[in-house]
Amino acid sequence: MKKIAPLLTLALLITFNVASQKNTNKPNIIIFMADDMGYQDTGFTGSKDILTPNLDKIAETGVIFEQGYANHPFCAPSRAALLSGRYPYRFGFETNPAYDPANPLMGISPDEKLFPERLQEVGYTTGAIGKWHLGASDKHHPNNRGFDYFYGFLGGGHDYFQIDLTKRVWEAYLQGLVRNKKPASFDGYLTTALSKDAAKFVNDNKDNPFFLYVSYNAPHMPLQAPKADIERYSHIKDRKRRIYAAMVDVMDRGIGEVINALKENEIYENTLIFFLSDNGGPISSAKQPTKGNGSSNKPFRGGKGNFYDGGVHVPFIASWPAKIPAGTYNYPVNSLDISRTIVEVAGANALTSNKMEGVDLIPFVLNKQKDAPHNAIFWRSGSNFSVLDSNGMKHVKDKDSKNSELFNLSNDKSESSNIIESNSERAEELLSKWKEWNKDNIPSNMAGYKGYHKLRDQFYKNAIPKGAKKAKTKE
Ligand code: CA
Repeated sequence: MKKIAPLLTLALLITFNVASQKNTNKPNIIIFMADDMGYQDTGFTGSKDILTPNLDKIAETGVIFEQGYANHPFCAPSRAALLSGRYPYRFGFETNPAYDPANPLMGISPDEKLFPERLQEVGYTTGAIGKWHLGASDKHHPNNRGFDYFYGFLGGGHDYFQIDLTKRVWEAYLQGLVRNKKPASFDGYLTTALSKDAAKFVNDNKDNPFFLYVSYNAPHMPLQAPKADIERYSHIKDRKRRIYAAMVDVMDRGIGEVINALKENEIYENTLIFFLSDNGGPISSAKQPTKGNGSSNKPFRGGKGNFYDGGVHVPFIASWPAKIPAGTYNYPVNSLDISRTIVEVAGANALTSNKMEGVDLIPFVLNKQKDAPHNAIFWRSGSNFSVLDSNGMKHVKDKDSKNSELFNLSNDKSESSNIIESNSERAEELLSKWKEWNKDNIPSNMAGYKGYHKLRDQFYKNAIPKGAKKAKTKE
């Protein structure tokens, strides 16, 4: 081995010192995620009747992604995408898992690496608070999936005021909460309890770089809010929207509380914050008159469950005062980019075990990279699909339409004018991109709620001999 010249050794030492100094200066990172929130239900996206001053402040001092997309139009696959940093169809995660704490197969595969695991590898303390929805068995527990700390519930939602342990286990919304793996409860209103816990996490971890995933179930149904907050919105005539507005308002105040904790500990400037909704707001239709939660996805078409923009185009902002100047960003981005950006700024490895697919957005928002981050963004659900290119051309086969359609979002945000007949070549071109992308996907490998219960009943149908006596529960 060659001897290293003294001068070079000195240079190496200096480099090493700078590197380790940078290491101690790693940003804290927080993702706030709303559940089933409509695009136009924040001040910064144009809401006139719902107040979100804390989110608006983050937007004002940070970056508004005007074309920010969730990776699926409903809950669990969207979350699987965010936390793995990969299209969830790569690993067959295309439906919501049923709530089944005894079933190690009902949730995201433990073989799929989640990005907080990557952050742990470089010394981050990681916390998740709120809704999990990626499997309820011990294998899927957040503490076994990259989170040092968890407070919340493992199912897809929760009652905002009560826990009722006398209800059957599949009533996930009434199950107890857990703090790490121990039973936990909450006082008062759930959204406020989650926010308080998040602020406490910030206070407890202020001295080391942390990542915190604040996964609200608000404003997902059931529509419930404290009476006083609903009364503040008494000017909203529609009952659902009135309660929904109160739910969003309480969530916004909770986010304000977490921001205050960052400021009081003087770590706000070096904290990278993202906010988004996991999908668009559900809207009622003639077929499903009670589906809506009072949200507004305007100016977009459709809502939760649709590949039209109403289902996937969500409020999407980032802030990092020490690094990113205020502004807006116009090219399409998606939630895979959030996880990839986080892993890159943390100095973690995005390419080991299941390569992450998003792009690091920082060079783009700093205008160091001027081209579009994505050639195209893709979605899939059974035989339905969607592909959006960086020019705003979108080829979509939605569940609510018989045929596939082509829209130019750059001049038709509401997808009101299907131009597929006059642009069939363009549509084909997009479809071939989608087919190429789809080669790396596998079939859905999880039975959703309905399919799961049907399969379970079939499985056990012949297992119990006719005339068998019911087992005694106590000897
Ligand atoms: Ca959702």
